[in-house]
Amino acid sequence: MKRSIDKAALLEAIFENSEETIIIVSLAGEILDINSGGLKLFEYDKEELLGQKIEVLIPERFRPNHGAYREDYAKSPENRAMGVGLELRGRKKDGSEFPVSVGLSKAQVAGETIVVGFVIDITFQTEVRERLKQVNNELEERVRERTMELARMVNQLEDTNEKLQKAEIEVREALMAERELSNMKSRFVSMASHEFRTPLSTILSSISLVEKYQEADQQQKREKHINRVKSNVKYLTNILNDFLSMDKLQTGKIMVQPEPFKLNDFLVDVCEEMHDLLKPGQYITQELDCDEQVVLDPKLLRTILSNLVSNAIKYSSENDEIILRLSMEGEYVVMRVKDHGIGIPLEEQEHIFERFFRAKNVINIQGTGLGLNLTRGIAELMNGSLDFESEYEKGSIFTITLPKKIES
Ligand code: ADP
Repeated sequence: MKRSIDKAALLEAIFENSEETIIIVSLAGEILDINSGGLKLFEYDKEELLGQKIEVLIPERFRPNHGAYREDYAKSPENRAMGVGLELRGRKKDGSEFPVSVGLSKAQVAGETIVVGFVIDITFQTEVRERLKQVNNELEERVRERTMELARMVNQLEDTNEKLQKAEIEVREALMAERELSNMKSRFVSMASHEFRTPLSTILSSISLVEKYQEADQQQKREKHINRVKSNVKYLTNILNDFLSMDKLQTGKIMVQPEPFKLNDFLVDVCEEMHDLLKPGQYITQELDCDEQVVLDPKLLRTILSNLVSNAIKYSSENDEIILRLSMEGEYVVMRVKDHGIGIPLEEQEHIFERFFRAKNVINIQGTGLGLNLTRGIAELMNGSLDFESEYEKGSIFTITLPKKIES
């Protein structure tokens, strides 16, 4: 059997026992009723509120606008939450405020539209929300700080890493320089002990002989040995000069001092100077074709040409022709020194400009392995280049290319 419930009693019970505040208000905003939950929340006695405007329950500063909202609502009342997106506040009798959420619904009672307001005190939720917001802000701040700290640390690490890499490169370079130096030292010692011995013992024996040739008619013999001493001293001086020039070149101490001069005449002079070195029957053919003036460093150019011509003489046989060819190619002067001598073995050609390097077919010929390295360095100092072509046992051509004009 269906149980029947007294609806009026039920509504009364729900109204009175509800923890939530339920306020009944007329469309004109007059409080018609309020449950005990509401009285407890707003701390009023019922008689104090009945007949009052609903605005008595909201803080004074919101009251002026509230009237207008209420009138709007009265025009088309419907069930909805109040003030969505706004922070609604209630006001207790003692004037203290607290956050609330309000739901509105309309009802028709005895032909009159009334509004039922459900008010919930959301102080706790608001505090929790505020606290959450605060904690969130604090967390964000901490994350920001940590991120900055991390970025700083990454920067520092990158810095340190860069410094370490630099230090590593410096150490490696220093090590290589050290190795190169000790390598040079030992090559110099072995070159010097080999190359100095013969001229020194020749000088010694020639001087001993000069001492012995005391007769007046032995003048010719004396002169022969004196000349031998002279040429050996010159040879030793040349080696030392090459060595000093190499050091100067390496430390950037060679200064280029260009001046204008006629290349044809200059080359004739250089060949003249080399005459003493020629072996019996050897001769230099000059194919010169430059009436123009050039602006180059004559001292440095002389060093280059002397080196190349003396090599051509040294590494070719008696009666061989040596050709010195000069031509102009655009803005460049090209000088070629050609011989028909012993040539350079193909497999050794790639090392020919290395300091102290000497090919295996020149073991019995005097030399230091410094000249070509120095010559190329000087050519490059004058913005030029030194190249060669050579065929073993057939001969070699060394080519210097220099700009016609260089600046100091
Ligand atoms: P050096 O002549 O004192 O040994 P260089 O540096 O002038 O030193 O030459 C290096 C090496 O190149 C020589 O030892 C030789 O093996 C080779 N070379 C240079 N010029 C010639 C040349 N005209 N003919 C053959 N070999 C040459």
